[in-house]
Amino acid sequence: MKRINIAIDGYSSCGKGTLAKYIAQQLGYVFIDSGAMYRGLTLKLIESNIDISDLPAIESACKDAFFEFKLNQTKDSFELYLNGRNVESSIRNLKVSNLVSEVAAISLVRKHLVRVQQTIGKSKGVVMDGRDIGTVVFPDADLKIFMTAKTTVRAKRRFNELNKAGMEVTLADVLANLKKRDYIDSNREDSPLQLQGDYKVLDNSNLTIEQQNSMAMEWVQESMQH
Ligand code: C5P
Repeated sequence: MKRINIAIDGYSSCGKGTLAKYIAQQLGYVFIDSGAMYRGLTLKLIESNIDISDLPAIESACKDAFFEFKLNQTKDSFELYLNGRNVESSIRNLKVSNLVSEVAAISLVRKHLVRVQQTIGKSKGVVMDGRDIGTVVFPDADLKIFMTAKTTVRAKRRFNELNKAGMEVTLADVLANLKKRDYIDSNREDSPLQLQGDYKVLDNSNLTIEQQNSMAMEWVQESMQH
């Protein structure tokens, strides 16, 4: 079987990470959450009091940001480390969520992170999820999946997740954040989220995780045989 790269793009909180992680585990591939990198950089800007209009300061923040994904064996999931510090929990808070799409719309940020992501994908065997993976990061990916689900379904799932992690948020805040990010991500000038080209579309509004996984694994098997 040939080693391939798999791109998973789609709207916020569609379960892209859950699917990407599952596929990576099935194949023994590396799973990369590209959104975590945009979130990590956003956290760095917030903590360093850098305004999103200060491009020179943002450029040096990019150069100073060293990302690593390390396995948390208890949780059986990869967590983001920024310059050696575990930031997995901090990058998920609403303060970061409310700013990340504006940071991600800055071209120099995208250029920098896309380069890092492409380097990771060079040796193949990567499942990466995000917004521009199939269009910009790996335009030649052997399999591209576009995930979507009804906004209310997504907001509820995300709300439950954040609640479980002990974060105090309301469903209305989560819904507002999803809508805001979807709007900015789909309408920005530089590499917007777009369903174009050779994506397989997966709407999981009414699917169980098992149904979603088996649908995706059929596509994976097909792509590996070509
Ligand atoms: O995937 P997640 O929702 O954690 O991503 C957070 C934000 O990072 C997105 O709303 C989007 O603004 C940005 N992002 C992006 N391109 C990617 C991944 C994420 O612009 N490839």
